[in-house]
Amino acid sequence: MFTIKSLREQFLAKKTTPLQVVEEALAKIKKEDGEIHAFLDVYEDAKELAKQATADYDEGRGSDLPLLGIPLAIKNNILIKGRRATGASKILENYIATYDATVISRLKKAGAIFIGATNMDEFAMGGSTENSAFGVTKNPLDTKRVPGGSSGGSAGAVAMGVVPAAIGTDTGGSIRQPASFCGLVGFKPTYGAVSRYGLMAMGSSLDQAGPLTNCVADAELIHNVIAGVDTMDATTITSDTYPEPKIKEAYTFGVPKNFLTEGLDEDVKKAFFAHIELLKTLGHTVVDVDLPLFEKGLAAYYIVVQAEISSNLARYDGMRYGLSMPGTDLISVYQKTRATGFGPEVKRRILLGTYVLSSGYYDAYYGKAQQVRGMMRKELKEIFKIVDFILTPTAPTPAFKIGEQEDPLAMYKQDIFTVPVNLTGVPALTFPMGKVIRDSVSLPVGVQYIASHGCDSQLFAIGKKVYDDQL
Ligand code: GLN
Repeated sequence: MFTIKSLREQFLAKKTTPLQVVEEALAKIKKEDGEIHAFLDVYEDAKELAKQATADYDEGRGSDLPLLGIPLAIKNNILIKGRRATGASKILENYIATYDATVISRLKKAGAIFIGATNMDEFAMGGSTENSAFGVTKNPLDTKRVPGGSSGGSAGAVAMGVVPAAIGTDTGGSIRQPASFCGLVGFKPTYGAVSRYGLMAMGSSLDQAGPLTNCVADAELIHNVIAGVDTMDATTITSDTYPEPKIKEAYTFGVPKNFLTEGLDEDVKKAFFAHIELLKTLGHTVVDVDLPLFEKGLAAYYIVVQAEISSNLARYDGMRYGLSMPGTDLISVYQKTRATGFGPEVKRRILLGTYVLSSGYYDAYYGKAQQVRGMMRKELKEIFKIVDFILTPTAPTPAFKIGEQEDPLAMYKQDIFTVPVNLTGVPALTFPMGKVIRDSVSLPVGVQYIASHGCDSQLFAIGKKVYDDQL
């Protein structure tokens, strides 16, 4: 299996070199990415860094840096100084980042080599990567299907075997859902664990960056590199913000049974119940839990996120960044730039967000959604007194076909299990729980483990036991 751990071992044992691995990755992109389209930009100059990393291993400097010579792919809403940062939007088509995101500077410091920028839904709005202004990414496991989204390019890059890991962002499931569709591990950290400095803001109270990998140990490794307090993001938390997570032999899992109804594919349900049986045979306890508010997450999310989007995207005004259309006065510059630069999903969300924040409707929509959000947190706090993890499928279906979900509301329903996690700020891990057959193709489906605030390491501990140990 293509993992960071195995690459590291091979580098240290001189069985291969970073240069060889990077050259292979670039060759694979050339050969296969014309069809898949996981990448928006490919960094050919990664070879130079790979030469340096190879020399470092040769001279015995390899063991100090946890990611030395490891090729990674980066979602194109994360700024890398001197590289194009498009957010897969026409409005930023030619925008070059002027600084490194904190996530990026930490990965660089750990020795990672970026080989390219990955495709995504425009400004991370979507669940299929069909909303990219630069064309859809295909699922490498079945090219008729979507890779999920919005981090579909990052998932595609790992599923193609170009890189052992990629970085995505997750506002309502955009790391976890594509991981589920592409048979990968995906991790959404506790809100504030990872700095948002240098990430294009979608929903500032929801966004977190995290890894997509082939095993839980690699996700943990990347998370530990990118996490930590950052003076450039006042919402980052220290490791003692929450009580120390308990690493145990046997855990208690809560299954919100009432939540497993609407829209849940029968085969996904079967795989999920088989996973529950697996947990029991591994010695864990599984109990039913009631989470009536958690189940309302989808409605609350699609008010809160639109509100935050409408505010955050106000900055793309034809003055400060990227595209600027000429106009007769300031207002017409704004209008023409935004009308030309934004795609339909982005416009829809800005309109909805502006509406729910308007003075006449603020209390009825945004205010209510924030109240629900507060109550959801309380509900979770009580549940986590009884259980260590909440268990759900990651997505209600396996990867769907390109063009199949035309109705935006149907697409939003894909997020039913993932968005409550972002609304409440807790961490969640997904990994494959089984396969389902569609059109004689075997497609992976993921399970989601949700933990209490700050229990990120507890998720890695259980994930390694349940998933990595069976690989
Ligand atoms: N699919 C969700 C949405 O469209 C989540 C997106 C994300 O996590 N960036 O809002």
